[in-house]
Amino acid sequence: MASSLGHLFYPHVCRGCGTDLLESHQLLCLHCIADLPLTHFAAHEGNPVEKTFWGRIQVASAMSLLYFTPQSLVQHLVHQVKYNGQQKLAHYLGIMTGNEIFHSGRFGNIDLIIPLPLYKSREIERGYNQSFLLAKGIAEIINVPVMEKSVLRIHSTSTQTHKSRSDRWQNVEGLFQLINGFHPEGKNILLVDDVITTGATIDACGSVINKIPGTTLNIATLAYALQ
Ligand SMILES: [Zn+2]
Repeated sequence: MASSLGHLFYPHVCRGCGTDLLESHQLLCLHCIADLPLTHFAAHEGNPVEKTFWGRIQVASAMSLLYFTPQSLVQHLVHQVKYNGQQKLAHYLGIMTGNEIFHSGRFGNIDLIIPLPLYKSREIERGYNQSFLLAKGIAEIINVPVMEKSVLRIHSTSTQTHKSRSDRWQNVEGLFQLINGFHPEGKNILLVDDVITTGATIDACGSVINKIPGTTLNIATLAYALQ
């Protein structure tokens, strides 16, 4: 009785499809988990995410967990994570991403994780940085620290979706900088973001990391949008 009353007032439903056929600790039902379009990029050298950065920044290994397509389950989940306060879902998807990375055996010994920062006012408005929550999930699996606020986003690029691809490159120049006192020289770094589309934002942040002597840059994102 207590549990069904609880269910009435705090409905526990699948974050993917809304069904209530799931255990109290689950966030996604078995159907949605089975429907997730896994890329399996982590295990493959020269995968589409790695190719995105060829000739742009130095990337050792890169992966995305899921394919992102319009009007899909993945689009819905990304929306839940970014705009609907589903922080536990972000963490859960981070754990899935961490498992892919761990089992690929291709990312070397990561020393630390840097979540791609949001612009300050954007994070205050949202209450969290979804990339940080993904990073925390990954960190739980590969057992390394997450260096939140180690990189600063200097201005907002909220209007960039209305610009052409070439404009975006110019728009993201000088978008990120390391905070004073952060010296990850010689470290194997994993940079984490939610969705990769053109890669322009990751490119801007990755180029800052590339400039730190002796660092190796790896990239993980929750989803990969087909261009
Ligand atoms: Zn479901």
